[in-house]
Amino acid sequence: MSRDVKQAYKNGTRAMDGKPGKNYWQNHGRYVISVTAMPPDRNIKGTETISYMNNSPDTLRNPAIKLFLNIHKPGAPREFGATPDYLTSGVHIDECKVNGQTVQVRSDQFVFTNVSIKLPKPLLPHDSLQFSFTWHYEISLQSGREGMIDSTTYFLAYFYPRVAVYDDYNGWDKMPFMDSHEFYSDFNDYDVTITVPKNYIVVGTGTLQHPENLLQQLFLKKYSEAFTSDQTIQIVTKQDWQAKNITAQNAVNSWRFTSTNIPDVAFGISDHFNWDGCSVVVDDATHRRAGAFAVYNDTAADYHQVAQYARHSLNWLSHHWPGVPYPYEKTTVFQGYAGMEYPMMANDETYEDTSFSRFVAEHEIAHTYMPFYMGINETRYGFMDEGWATTFEILIGREDLGKEKADEIFKQFRVDGWINNRSPGQDVPIVGPGDNMMGDALGNNEYGKPSLGYLAVKDLLGDELFKRCLHEYMNRWHGKHPIPWDFFFTFNDVAKRNLNWFWNNWYFSHNYIDLAVRSATRSGNDYSIIIENVGGMAAPVNVIANYSDGSKESFHQTPAIWQNNQQKAIVKISSKKKVESVSLDGGIFMDADTTNNTWKQKAF
Ligand SMILES: [Zn+2]
Repeated sequence: MSRDVKQAYKNGTRAMDGKPGKNYWQNHGRYVISVTAMPPDRNIKGTETISYMNNSPDTLRNPAIKLFLNIHKPGAPREFGATPDYLTSGVHIDECKVNGQTVQVRSDQFVFTNVSIKLPKPLLPHDSLQFSFTWHYEISLQSGREGMIDSTTYFLAYFYPRVAVYDDYNGWDKMPFMDSHEFYSDFNDYDVTITVPKNYIVVGTGTLQHPENLLQQLFLKKYSEAFTSDQTIQIVTKQDWQAKNITAQNAVNSWRFTSTNIPDVAFGISDHFNWDGCSVVVDDATHRRAGAFAVYNDTAADYHQVAQYARHSLNWLSHHWPGVPYPYEKTTVFQGYAGMEYPMMANDETYEDTSFSRFVAEHEIAHTYMPFYMGINETRYGFMDEGWATTFEILIGREDLGKEKADEIFKQFRVDGWINNRSPGQDVPIVGPGDNMMGDALGNNEYGKPSLGYLAVKDLLGDELFKRCLHEYMNRWHGKHPIPWDFFFTFNDVAKRNLNWFWNNWYFSHNYIDLAVRSATRSGNDYSIIIENVGGMAAPVNVIANYSDGSKESFHQTPAIWQNNQQKAIVKISSKKKVESVSLDGGIFMDADTTNNTWKQKAF
């Protein structure tokens, strides 16, 4: 445990059995936001009030405010370069008030994605205050996770000033947003109104209020039908747009969305994108359905299938892995350039290969659980969300494509870049802290490597016990801010096993996967096979006995073989046939050095 984390356990905000501690707290905001976007004008104007509740035992004097879009400012620290089309002048705070009193917000050339505000009067424990902001920014020509998709299609994300997380182990989150690292957000309530010209639709996070005041009768009917239809309803098509009579014919329309206890909001607006929708039962106990929508340019051939891909994702994730009913009323996949998740939204590119479009939609929708349902600190502990989305991705992929193909894709995309890269960053401990890592070391330690760890513990515990542990972790921590130890301790607690040897081996070490078969000795029908763990990682493996009659047999070994001795395991197999050679096959647990994976009986 790092020292900040040790202190949190000592303070009783977290507990060694993996439950939130008796002193657990988190802060909360109620955001009322009003934004105006009038394409092709790139100016986005907003006002908001934030009622912020300090549930901490601490007196807060200098709250940190996140201005994520300052990443577009020239000179902003970034992990990637920026083209001229990416650059803007950033976020302009026109006014900031605290409880009605105007306060100054620094805006000089050294202010980027974090700015601290000095409160006129400290915010005492268990007290609240109201911030109000008026701001504007220019939406960037080049879009990534947000920005202009085309001259009249905008993706609005991270667009509002928000109070950074103040938590029990780290205090104010002042980690800068530099693009490759993701986010850390409190669970807030949002009431967002987006004002756009007529004949623009707005889709995004939350429940659309009074759609009957926004959509013409025919489109309203189709929008409602999507929530009860298995088949895709084409709510708005390319042909429909030509009549320019989709929405109420006021000069501008204000689209209002509300959501509660959700970590963020994002919206897409367009005057020509297709809008498809369908739905599926996500909760068998209550028969609750959730909507699956796709909003895209008609030219994107794959996107005509995307509402069904999203529907399949909601269905599968709700019923199989993690096997927790999708927690929101809908999801919308919006065509952009990101491959990025937001609560109830994804921004995905178009691809020629529709199985890849489905793969990306599944991955981004899987993020619903981690980070959003679970409140993960993605910036510091990204393996707690990307590792899981990657795990659900292979499990759903095996259903879509069959095990062989899904495993092949996983090896190619998620494992090969780690295991066959000998540079030292690859083998640093997964636990991070990720905010101090970058490049492929960050990527491999957030995606493939931790995912293999989750799949290894699934193999170790068996599906039933693993699911029970996972569900209890999700049950204890959803809507909160778990850190890695809460996860590890919950698994120990629910499995009633001390798995620390495993967690240490996978998540806190410089281990990698390299197993070697050293010998096989025979005594009657019994063989003792000695496997050396060269790389150290407690990986599962298939031990393949190749018999003298040309047949072979596979003996699966879970990571349990490494529990008592992490350097050497003796695997015992029985067979009436004569073993001529033994080989190791880790499958997706790819081995860094396969030259030592086979042992052959010497000729007598
Ligand atoms: Zn992801």
